[in-house]
Amino acid sequence: MKTSIATVSVSGNLAEKLTSIAERGYDAAEIFENDLLSAPQTAAEIGAMMRDLGLACSIFQPFRDFEGLPPDLSGRALERMRRKFDVMEALGTDLILLCSNCSPHASGERERIVEDLARIAALAGTHGKRIGYEALAWAPKVYDHREAWALVRDVDHPALGLVLDSFHSLSRGIPSSSIGDIRADKLFLIQLADAPKLDMDLLNWSRHFRCMPGQGDFPLADYCAAIRKIGYQGFWSLEIFNDRFRAGSAGQVARDGLRGLKVLHDQAGRRSGAPAELPDPVEPGCVEFIEFAASHDEAAEFGRFLTALGFGPVGRHRSKDVVRWQQGNINLVINSEPEGLAHSFDMVHGGSVCAIGLAVDDQQAVLARAGALDIQRFDQPVSPGEWAIPAVRGIGGSLLYLVDAATREAMWREEFPLAGAGPAPRADLTVIDHVAQTMQYEEFLSWLLYYTALFDMAKTPQLEIADPMGIVYSQAVESPGRGVRFTLNGSMAANALSSRFIHHYFGAGVQHIAFACANIFAAATRAREGGLPMLDIGPNYYADIEARFGLAADLVARMAALNILYDRDEGGEYFQFYSRAVAKRVFFEVVERRSYDGYGAANASIRLNAQAQHRDPKGA
Ligand code: MG
Ligand code: MG
Repeated sequence: MKTSIATVSVSGNLAEKLTSIAERGYDAAEIFENDLLSAPQTAAEIGAMMRDLGLACSIFQPFRDFEGLPPDLSGRALERMRRKFDVMEALGTDLILLCSNCSPHASGERERIVEDLARIAALAGTHGKRIGYEALAWAPKVYDHREAWALVRDVDHPALGLVLDSFHSLSRGIPSSSIGDIRADKLFLIQLADAPKLDMDLLNWSRHFRCMPGQGDFPLADYCAAIRKIGYQGFWSLEIFNDRFRAGSAGQVARDGLRGLKVLHDQAGRRSGAPAELPDPVEPGCVEFIEFAASHDEAAEFGRFLTALGFGPVGRHRSKDVVRWQQGNINLVINSEPEGLAHSFDMVHGGSVCAIGLAVDDQQAVLARAGALDIQRFDQPVSPGEWAIPAVRGIGGSLLYLVDAATREAMWREEFPLAGAGPAPRADLTVIDHVAQTMQYEEFLSWLLYYTALFDMAKTPQLEIADPMGIVYSQAVESPGRGVRFTLNGSMAANALSSRFIHHYFGAGVQHIAFACANIFAAATRAREGGLPMLDIGPNYYADIEARFGLAADLVARMAALNILYDRDEGGEYFQFYSRAVAKRVFFEVVERRSYDGYGAANASIRLNAQAQHRDPKGA
């Protein structure tokens, strides 16, 4: 696969964009004219820079509003095009993108359009250049790639070909099977973008919500499989208009793009029976442990919360200041080491999650796929006799350990042989149900892609949650067997509670951990008796759910007494309660699922408001 990305997709000035693109390993870049116009370098200097960076120029773009113009305007447009050929020469590309005409002066008469396209193709041909014609989804006349292809086919000039852009095709729901009619030698470039399913006008949807393959809802694997099937050999180029990407880290956006592109190309190939290009994704079995970095004071606070929830400090590390808390199949590790990664994490973030361990059947397969997707492996010095658990970097410096599912019991025995001091665990909580991570919206899409690209995990539809101060986007990634579930929350509103948690309170990262139980009333009663600081839910909520769901008054009274929240869908019922925050960073949730597969999204704004009430007025 020959990879490319449009300079409009990443942040920075043109030189910075090209450097980021080259560093991540793309083969080519599309030069967006506006980036060139605002650059201090000449086109020749940019062309030389690209050659030095080892980047080809896949296309120069865009050229707008040509075909179907009245004769006087058409003559001027041809002259405008002729001048672009010198720029293209300097950049080192023979290909320019021509968008279908959006001008109100343009005729939609097909014969005129064919004539004009033939004229511009002839002009390009005499200069040794080629024109790629693209149907814009919102153009008044030519808005469908099938029509654009029919025009290119009928003009039948070697200098005129087609550019397919997945946004323009899929936003209009054009069947990908129609790509089978296109001749590969006339398909000059593929532009790829994903997007969330939104009900809005096409232009604004395209300008602001395009995202990397795998981050949205388009059926891109089918689209790409159809393109692969006709034998297309050119560049696969990402063209992503998204304000948030332009505001974010160029390196991360470029990395995400290539990651998404590789996964997509592999999926599309597998659909058509081609050999796999990436190692198979592995399904993680469960969250084997969660590690917190905590000072001794914070560790004592964690201990009070965990004891109240029924955890016991069942083991201490053989050589480090690390305690294993356990209950059912849940392992929480509190790391108070004065040195090492956990310590530096604690210095930056305060008592919070520094690593997550996932149990997998094949560590090497995960590492191989991580390597192919530019996910960095993490190694730290291991003392003699210590278990070396392979780890990879998450987004934003976090760590993901890959625990061998077959030897995990031995790992715990050998690493934590010393008895802990404290009561034995109860049997209220059984497994980690889900881990909730909060982040800025730009990072939200990076995390989403990270989990679904690396593992056999799929994302749920995106939800919008009304926060008292703005909108929070929430989406889950889940393993097929539901052994691992992450809920990701990203906010674009600077004052939304989740954003303020990030800036002032919790820090980006794990915001809460939900434990499953079989009897939430028993678990909540014992947690309260044990002194768990609970998140208090106000009386209006209970009056509302009693009426809304038609619940028995005595059941609602028991829920109210224990601050238990409730939700119901077609599948079943969900009960949940929350602790207050530990070390001002992270809180716990306990859930009981009765054939219910969601996360109580309907209660999220109730929870956010309750937390706003609890916030320390002095701030963090
Ligand atoms: Mg395009
Ligand atoms: Mg939750």
